Amino acid sequence: MNIVLLGAPGAGKGTQAQRLVEEFGYAHISTGDLLRAAVAAQTPLGVEAKGYMDKGALVPDELVIGLVKERLAEPDAKEGFILDGFPRNLDQARALDAALPELGVKIDAALLVEVAPDVIVERLSSRRVCRTCGYTGTAADAVCPKDGGEMYQRDDDRPETIKNRLDVYRAETEPLLGYYADEDLLVTVDGDRPVDEVYAEVKERLGL
Ligand code: AMP
Repeated sequence: MNIVLLGAPGAGKGTQAQRLVEEFGYAHISTGDLLRAAVAAQTPLGVEAKGYMDKGALVPDELVIGLVKERLAEPDAKEGFILDGFPRNLDQARALDAALPELGVKIDAALLVEVAPDVIVERLSSRRVCRTCGYTGTAADAVCPKDGGEMYQRDDDRPETIKNRLDVYRAETEPLLGYYADEDLLVTVDGDRPVDEVYAEVKERLGL
């Protein structure tokens, strides 16, 4: 199954994606993770992307679309994938639709994890991520509960950047809900509940 995950930053997309990957073995294609890896490795793309990411702005479409096309062409993506954080605007969604036939795949569902804005701000402020395995936890996790790794706060999860990211989401990404509804692919779950409950509904709604 090929899934596009939609939802505001901090809605729990990454957490739901991790669960689906663990249970079903889908390829997890997170453009945020790919970009952060490029920044850490100081590749030319990473160096260019960093300035946009630090401000909470979107990285230019041509960079991100190229990254996703390359990743979708890798063999594991043929067995099913979850796109997390991509597309982020209508041009990216159209570019994805244009690229899919060449790759011989189609999107089966666009899954929206819906959470109220005040909950989002609280979640993003307390989010901490494991430096070694990428596990997402909270400020209450002194170390990673999975592998004991160091938990750190993403630079763009600081209060001054959160507002910008939410504004970008509203202006650029929310129009995708109509786009995927028109394609009859939109499936919405209430993300403002414990992770296990959200995941149970995700599976039910996707027929998994
Ligand atoms: P995320 O981890 O999905 O919250 O993404 C972190 C940051 O990476 C975003 O605030 C953007 O600066 C950048 N980014 C991630 N995905 C995309 C995308 N599809 N298009 C443009 N920028 C992106």
